[in-house]
Amino acid sequence: MNNEEAEAEDFMDDISAEEKLIEVCPICGSPELYFEAGGVEGLYHCKHCGYIGAFVIDANKEMMDLIQKEYNASVRDAE
Ligand SMILES: [Zn+2]
Repeated sequence: MNNEEAEAEDFMDDISAEEKLIEVCPICGSPELYFEAGGVEGLYHCKHCGYIGAFVIDANKEMMDLIQKEYNASVRDAE
């Protein structure tokens, strides 16, 4: 199986397409993620909300806006 190679090709297609995918934080939708390669597996750090985890969302612009909107709404509710 060579699934990873096929996925990488799909990703390259997405970059050249109009709707490119961005890795965003699953909590706040921020694209400002840092990938830290330390430890057994690398972890993503979100600069915006402090999320640390191995899971991020491949989102297009529309999805990113939606996650950010929901996050901002939940922040407002908590206040
Ligand atoms: Zn975040």
